[in-house]
Amino acid sequence: MSANLLLDDDMNTIWESCQAGARCLAENGIENADWESRALLCDQLDLSLGDFLIRKADPMTEAEAALFAQNIDCRCAHVPLQHILGKAYFYGLEFNVSPSVLIPRPETELLVEHALKALQAGMSVLDLCTGSGCIAITVSTQCPGIKTDASDVSSEALEVAKKNADANDAPVNFIQSDLFEGISGQYDMILSNPPYISQAEMETLMPEVKDHDPHLALYGGIDGLDFYKKISANAPDHLNPGGILMMEIGAGQAYDVSTLLRENDFTDIQIIQDLNGLDRIVTGRRA
Ligand code: GLN
Repeated sequence: MSANLLLDDDMNTIWESCQAGARCLAENGIENADWESRALLCDQLDLSLGDFLIRKADPMTEAEAALFAQNIDCRCAHVPLQHILGKAYFYGLEFNVSPSVLIPRPETELLVEHALKALQAGMSVLDLCTGSGCIAITVSTQCPGIKTDASDVSSEALEVAKKNADANDAPVNFIQSDLFEGISGQYDMILSNPPYISQAEMETLMPEVKDHDPHLALYGGIDGLDFYKKISANAPDHLNPGGILMMEIGAGQAYDVSTLLRENDFTDIQIIQDLNGLDRIVTGRRA
């Protein structure tokens, strides 16, 4: 079935279009098809869920139906929903996203949650590989009074991150840098969700990720550990004594990453699991 069916005469109310969109999505293997179809339609027509229910018997104009069909076609081709909407939600905040940045993941909210437990006003934080800026912007808005720097190697990513910081009124200082190369400061905490997908795993990623998230933000070298090796070796030079390094990791990387921290003289090394029981964060303290 093609999304062109949405333009049929008998499918032109908001509700009927939504159902037809959901059918197309489901037939193309999209999970949560009903929810995604409604999300696309509500965003396009600028409707809250309440407005959607009140207005569901209203007809769609031909132009509205055509744009909706186009968006459904994109999603059927596995373009991520967030790229079609141009935004993603993270820790209750809205972030612009583009193909230049990794779409913020709910798993990463755990890193922010644990960082916030240890942060207090007056502390300084560096977010390495900031991408959309979601980590830096969230900690800086949730813990007023901290000084937040964020870096990325990609100037395109930094443009998106700066826009996100402005939109969220977050006082983040952005630095273009390949990991620590352009970083001169000392911090109380270094946070990072670096690229960590191994060469073998790259092949197994779903199309939404493999074809649409930037390769630069995903690929962590042959064993997926390139960034952890560099970060754990260089972070001690940029942490104040007692400072904390906290990194998101991929499934199965906890042992290797905690070993790297141990080899680089970190203490208080902890592995934190996510809600699915998967090892998700490794943290250590500079002696
Ligand atoms: N720090 C960003 C995020 O967590 C980007 C991560 C990346 O590019 N690997 O979404």
